[in-house]
Amino acid sequence: MKNIYMDYNATTPVRPEVLEEMLPFYTQHFGNPSSVHWAGRAVKGAIEKAREQVAALINCSPAEVVFTSCGSEGDNFALKGTVDALKEKGNHIITTSVEHPAVLETCEYLEKQGCEVTYLPVDKEGMLDLAALEAAITDRTILISVMWANNETGNIFPIEEIGAIARKYKVRFHTDSVQAIGRIPVDVQKANVDLAVISGHKLGAAKGVGAMYIRRGTRMTQFMHGGHQERHRRAGTHNVAGIVGLGKACEIAMQRMDEDMPRIQQLRDRLEKGILESIPEVKLNGHPQRRLPNTLNVSFAYIEGESILLNFDMKGIAASSGSACTSGSLEPSHVMCAMCVDVVLAHSSTRFSLGPDNSDEDVDFILRELPPIVQRLREMSPLYNSDARMSCSQCKVVRRA
Ligand SMILES: *Cc1c(COP(=O)(O)O)cnc(C)c1O
Repeated sequence: MKNIYMDYNATTPVRPEVLEEMLPFYTQHFGNPSSVHWAGRAVKGAIEKAREQVAALINCSPAEVVFTSCGSEGDNFALKGTVDALKEKGNHIITTSVEHPAVLETCEYLEKQGCEVTYLPVDKEGMLDLAALEAAITDRTILISVMWANNETGNIFPIEEIGAIARKYKVRFHTDSVQAIGRIPVDVQKANVDLAVISGHKLGAAKGVGAMYIRRGTRMTQFMHGGHQERHRRAGTHNVAGIVGLGKACEIAMQRMDEDMPRIQQLRDRLEKGILESIPEVKLNGHPQRRLPNTLNVSFAYIEGESILLNFDMKGIAASSGSACTSGSLEPSHVMCAMCVDVVLAHSSTRFSLGPDNSDEDVDFILRELPPIVQRLREMSPLYNSDARMSCSQCKVVRRA
């Protein structure tokens, strides 16, 4: 059986060219980049090259790139480091109700530490009301944190417009750009971003490596204490091979984005059209246009996303359900809740996220296998052909507006 992987928003395989660049740094070039001898020097150059490659992809200066261990670390650092550094100025953060848990749970932690957090609601298509964002700013606001692209729906937020608002009110602006980097053009200058986050494993590099953009002059309280690595921004011996791979992955993303993404989008669009046409009572989640080219999130009324995934898995198809992060619980995903997706539909939300290795045959296979799976699951569902559809009010919206 052929395995089909359509879960690129969860993680991506390391690109072969990336692995090739990484390997010598586990054995031959094993030095500690902080050492002054030959072994250290050989490695230091490679890290600085990677820094340039990351900087080129997001249009910043290499000195503004700080290597981290993952996207979650970047989000934690951005939020906690800002709150601590700007505590004289204020304690109010504005974010959205659809952020990744790395932002949302950090905000909840910061609330317990005395911060005030505004969680902006989204509309039914998962988009923000920028007037509401602007209206939420007070003289105590120290940070706006809005993701560049949503991991569940693929929705792309108007980061340049938000950056302009942040500049107008002189509020620091952080964006969780993990899903956007390498998939759509990201220009931190143009968007007036102060802080941005990259995760290696979401763009063809290894797990356990990431980077942050920290605009020059941005005051941050250090998050990892210890050695003097990364201009005192982040202590810890560098994950050299991981960093080298991240640099290479950024270089490849830059070279191939224009070519890869239209092809991936074409596959996504064909999958989307095929599903919407061949299966009744399917709902597209997210904004029909303003979405990452690789992401498709659909709900199949009356059935659980988890059962679709299990049935997919038996056919070798890897996708994801909206509730992946909360699996084990019966609550639908916070993103679907925030969008006020009917609770029955929210439970059946299924995400396909495509990447460079997907083919037309993958799409054909899914379009062949999916309708009978949905039909069979619906026939087994007590909700199917009944009036038992629950209303949105039963969907426990955990974030206040
Ligand atoms: C995956 C992801 C993260 C976390 O990145 P890790 O490197 O896995 O810690 C943060 N934000 C978004 C939007 C993500 O998709």
